Amino acid sequence: MRDLHCAHARFVWNLAVEQHSWWWPGRGSAPRPAERQRQLAEARAAEPWLAGGSSSVQQQALRDFDRAMAAFFDPDNPAGKPGFRSKRGTQGFVIRDTKVRRLNRKWGEVHVPKCGWVRFRWTRPLPEKPGMARVTLDRAGRWHVSFPAPQPALDRQPAGAVTGVDRGVRTALVTSDGRHYRAPRISDGDAGRYRTLQRRLARQRKGSRKREKTRLAMARITAKVIDRRRDWAEKVSTRLVTDHDVIVFEKLNTKNMVKRPNAKPDPEQPGAFLPNRARAKAGLNRGILASCWGTLATRAEQKADASGASVIYVDPKHSSQQCRMCGHIARESRESQALFRCIACGHEDHADANAARNILARGLAAMGVPAHAPGHGAHARVRRRSSGAAGTTRSAT
Ligand SMILES: [Zn+2]
Repeated sequence: MRDLHCAHARFVWNLAVEQHSWWWPGRGSAPRPAERQRQLAEARAAEPWLAGGSSSVQQQALRDFDRAMAAFFDPDNPAGKPGFRSKRGTQGFVIRDTKVRRLNRKWGEVHVPKCGWVRFRWTRPLPEKPGMARVTLDRAGRWHVSFPAPQPALDRQPAGAVTGVDRGVRTALVTSDGRHYRAPRISDGDAGRYRTLQRRLARQRKGSRKREKTRLAMARITAKVIDRRRDWAEKVSTRLVTDHDVIVFEKLNTKNMVKRPNAKPDPEQPGAFLPNRARAKAGLNRGILASCWGTLATRAEQKADASGASVIYVDPKHSSQQCRMCGHIARESRESQALFRCIACGHEDHADANAARNILARGLAAMGVPAHAPGHGAHARVRRRSSGAAGTTRSAT
């Protein structure tokens, strides 16, 4: 039945997308939400397959679509246009007036319409009255149930500490007070297995059972990385918000960060390319890093909002080439991946930390905090933590 709920929700969603794609300016109005609900009732009357399902699940799919449409038209928060949902992506549906009961410390049950009580692992505290719940089936074949709840405030003492955060290529994240956080990476073993599966998939017939099995195995590797990445973003964002009143991030277009690794031309054969495994793996890791960034910034923003701290974004232009002492901008000052040595004043610093300090200085300037020189204030009000394990993600909770 859960599979069927997913199929119904997908069907109804796609129906709404189709109606919208028939619409263009001048053609009159696209169906309004109320009219779509009426059309759903008609479709249920005509289709026994749909009628056998839960109308509340199907109505909720329409409401989901309306929300996605509203987001698409929101000028302040441009979202992508809602598109067709395929059988292959993440599947899901929403339950209203959710009933939940606890079985023991680890397990609970949620009531799914026309399906009955379904057991789930109780991984975090639930809101008093859950209201809605979203049930999803991810591409790795795992079911999840999530309950929307406001972000609770973190336990923190405002002390005026500020920090700038630079996205490094190797370390993922360097703060202006010199802490390094490594993002999770795909392991050598998993990267190898993934490539093997990818090659196998390319040879397999579309729609075949074996191909589906390969796809599932690939999705399981991806899911493992996604889990670790989410975990990382949770821990690091908590740490940043607990320790600082203001966190300055670079304004990023994460899409630009995910670039395919360049193919390496074969010098012997013009027009041919050498296989390059290191680059393929670098490509996988780059993708992971980019998505870590997006998740981290979003979670830090949500936690800051709930806890009386703030996250601001600044233009990252030249932040890695500018000297934080004299403000001189030169590509040559960045001697290597790790070292910054200003060609104008000779100031030396760790390259990523120098960039993070520039970002912080820009954030302070944006907030109207006077700065005597670029980078002033970088150390000024940063509390030093005596935690010995500072700088590793493991200690950040
Ligand atoms: Zn300088």
